[in-house]
Amino acid sequence: MRAVVDDDACAGHGVCAAVCPSVFAITDGGYAEAVDTPIPPELEPAVREAADSCPEHAIHVTEENHVN
Ligand code: SF4
Repeated sequence: MRAVVDDDACAGHGVCAAVCPSVFAITDGGYAEAVDTPIPPELEPAVREAADSCPEHAIHVTEENHVN
């Protein structure tokens, strides 16, 4: 799994960083950024929760690049 934040949609609430700080962080610019590496399987539920919790639906999750 990989996660990407849509810069145009993100409003910088920080919900994602609160739900899954291992993957999402708020940058100095005030918007969220996801790690640019495959998501470890143990973090996948938290990433899905973060994506579901994003008020702007700015987090896009793809199932490619599994690391098992
Ligand atoms: S929850 Fe969504 S809108 Fe808020 S900082 Fe994260 S990606 Fe951006």
